[in-house]
Amino acid sequence: MKNVASVIVDVAAMQTDRCFDYLIPAEWTGSIVPGMRVVVPFGPRKVQGFVMELKEKSEVAKLKPIVEPMDLKPVLNNELLTMADWLTEHTLCFKISALQAMLPAAMKAKYEKQLVVEKDIHVENLPEPLRPHFLKGTAQWKSIEAAGLLPLAQQEVKNGILEVVYKVKGKTNKKMIRKLYLSIAPETIETEASALPPQAKKQRDVLMFWKDHADKGFSMKELSERAGTTASTIQSLVKKGLLVQQDEEIYRDPFEDRTFKQTTPLPLTDQQGRAITPILEKIESGIQETFLLYGVTGSGKTEIYLQSIQRVLEQGKEAIVLVPEIALTPQMVNRFKGRFGNEVAVLHSGLSSGEKYDEWRKIERKEVRVVVGARSAVFAPFENLGIIIIDEEHETSYKQEENPRYHARDVAIWRSEYHGCPVVLGSATPSLESFARASKGVYTRLNLDKRMNDGPLPSVDIVDMREELREGNRSMFSRNLFEKLEDRLSKGEQTVLFLNRRGHSSFIMCRDCGYVVQCPNCDISLTYHRFSNGMKCHYCGYEERVPETCPECTSEHIRYFGTGTQKVEEELTKLLPQARIIRMDVDTTTRKGSHERLLTSFGEGKADILLGTQMIAKGLDFPNITLVGVLSADTMLHIPDFRSAEKTFQLLTQVSGRAGRHSLPGEVVIQTYTPEHYSVELASNHDYERFYEQEMVMRKMGSYPPFYYISLVTISHEDLMKVVDVSEKMTGFIRSRLSGTTKILGPVASPIPRIKNRYRYQCLIKYKREPRLAETLKTLLEQFHQQYASQGLTVSIDVNPYVMM
Ligand code: ADP
Ligand code: ZN
Ligand code: ZN
Repeated sequence: MKNVASVIVDVAAMQTDRCFDYLIPAEWTGSIVPGMRVVVPFGPRKVQGFVMELKEKSEVAKLKPIVEPMDLKPVLNNELLTMADWLTEHTLCFKISALQAMLPAAMKAKYEKQLVVEKDIHVENLPEPLRPHFLKGTAQWKSIEAAGLLPLAQQEVKNGILEVVYKVKGKTNKKMIRKLYLSIAPETIETEASALPPQAKKQRDVLMFWKDHADKGFSMKELSERAGTTASTIQSLVKKGLLVQQDEEIYRDPFEDRTFKQTTPLPLTDQQGRAITPILEKIESGIQETFLLYGVTGSGKTEIYLQSIQRVLEQGKEAIVLVPEIALTPQMVNRFKGRFGNEVAVLHSGLSSGEKYDEWRKIERKEVRVVVGARSAVFAPFENLGIIIIDEEHETSYKQEENPRYHARDVAIWRSEYHGCPVVLGSATPSLESFARASKGVYTRLNLDKRMNDGPLPSVDIVDMREELREGNRSMFSRNLFEKLEDRLSKGEQTVLFLNRRGHSSFIMCRDCGYVVQCPNCDISLTYHRFSNGMKCHYCGYEERVPETCPECTSEHIRYFGTGTQKVEEELTKLLPQARIIRMDVDTTTRKGSHERLLTSFGEGKADILLGTQMIAKGLDFPNITLVGVLSADTMLHIPDFRSAEKTFQLLTQVSGRAGRHSLPGEVVIQTYTPEHYSVELASNHDYERFYEQEMVMRKMGSYPPFYYISLVTISHEDLMKVVDVSEKMTGFIRSRLSGTTKILGPVASPIPRIKNRYRYQCLIKYKREPRLAETLKTLLEQFHQQYASQGLTVSIDVNPYVMM
């Protein structure tokens, strides 16, 4: 009999990163299974843990028993448990972090558990001892536990009568609606009606109303409207026991107010037909293959996703669609809901944890078969996957920047191999890695080179801002852009102005001596915020007021420099007072739903100019936009990151794609101080392939991906000498273990050498094939832990990093 459970405990530390054996108490033998969470004694504490496997016996002589299960059925299936092993190995994280990454936050946070009678099921169906606890349809887990009824309840969970639900503390939990049901047999309606007192005509009518709706439930409001009666009449029927009230869950649907226009598949064009055929073949045959769907914006990629998903659904399988967080707009979601209606769940970070949990439960309960979501939706607990689609596959937000540091693309490919299904990576500007893999035949490339409407890509002007300055134009708008802006205003057409705010675009600088105000804790300049006339550090949150005079030379000419969105807005208002402007940046979009509200009102023509940062680069598709201006194309080029040219190219291409998507032709103006840079020049020609070739040469010269893999080790501590010393030792250790063809750079100070008063050093490992890498880094972590962790040093390892700072 298997009554030993191997458990991963919820203590993220080096010493506890392994399975511990526990005894399964007799009453739970056979019911506790892998993938369930349990409460176990751990030292003096009780902690939660995940059951990984069951065994007949353990090497440990005296086993402590499991205290109790936390779930009555597994929350992670076999696939996800297996994937946790791979994820742990692949990203060098603790097993517990990998397991938790797969569950919605509501299940990790502090919560209360409830047992709930399933929808459409009567309390009568419960065994006698449980019934009194469920008269209201819901019982606290604690009270069932105290009554010793958990094992019985678990049986009912297995039978599909009860369900465990997490109530998020302090937040709204499940949303309930009270419904009325007929509580007598439908055949007896007439006899019961005639038994009512003669003056109770209204009550009789209501009762007769149920003749056609015997097994349906109605809310009080619905019933009084439909049966033409009042709440008090209905209440008297409840009192007489002829109707019953039951509380039922309704899902919080963040998109509930909207109605979706049902859409049907469009007849595909020839090029779409050629692209979709191989995908459909793999869906039919159930064979894994990774496709790179390379197609310019507006070339009909989304329609291909939709029709592929349709085939998957016809096969009785499920689909995951990943979309970058900022592109997960209602417009985007509507396209999927419009085609598949209630089959679609949506997961993104704008949802409250309760809402996310609701969506997750729809997946788990198999109420939906399509999930559209940001990065973590790749873990959706589907069991019969037929396709995984990653739109805008080049987006760096698919990489998680905390443990586990996974890339959604790798997880998607792993799952597709497990399920035998295709993965479709879609992009107009694929990541160099993916395009290189497609060129080598590792992925299969599918091309869409024409835009749907055969419309030309917008024409792009590059404006050299140095030239503008030389000719006496000190404004942030070039003459070219300004003329076009005025022109659109007079024609009533819309403009999008894009400001690349990454990089330090609005810092405080002394015009006389060049002094820049820095954060005292981090080696980075402070960002100016006009609203409070203050300066803030984006890394540690440090704030200070703008000085009146320069701390270095006491000059009064110290003020903000560069172009924040607020500054641009001010300038615009001055130059074009008649223009109606909507500004979208972190300051105007912090409130929930504000992002969407701003976009909607722009779409409705309530403004002439939409001014914003990164967040407006995607998904924006309005017919009246005929001009796109990029105020400073090069801020991102100067970030110390080997991907900066790639990111610049992608961003410029994406922004340009916002203009002229419909019948009106579009124009783009890109302002730059480095017009000769190939990423700027080639983006203006919409020439991805030449950019790819040129960038590959740079990557080869620098031994960067896709020619080499990289891993980044970062060490930090308050004491600079300590960091230097330890990072030298660690780099030496890595060097001694790895092969001669691997390049090990450093240790050197990180591009941001200090954050929150901790000095940071890094070592960069570049390798083509390094079988000993995982083992070496693991040993490094273990040794580090033993020798240095107690001294306050921290180390982080990022395999395939996307942030090099
Ligand atoms: P992408 O995802 O590549 O940006 P979309 O799928 O959004 O492209 O297509 C661009 C536009 O063309 C959309 O308005 C879409 O409805 C339309 N479209 C796509 N495929 C077809 C088709 N086969 N016939 C007619 N219109 C299409
Ligand atoms: Zn000065
Ligand atoms: Zn700081």
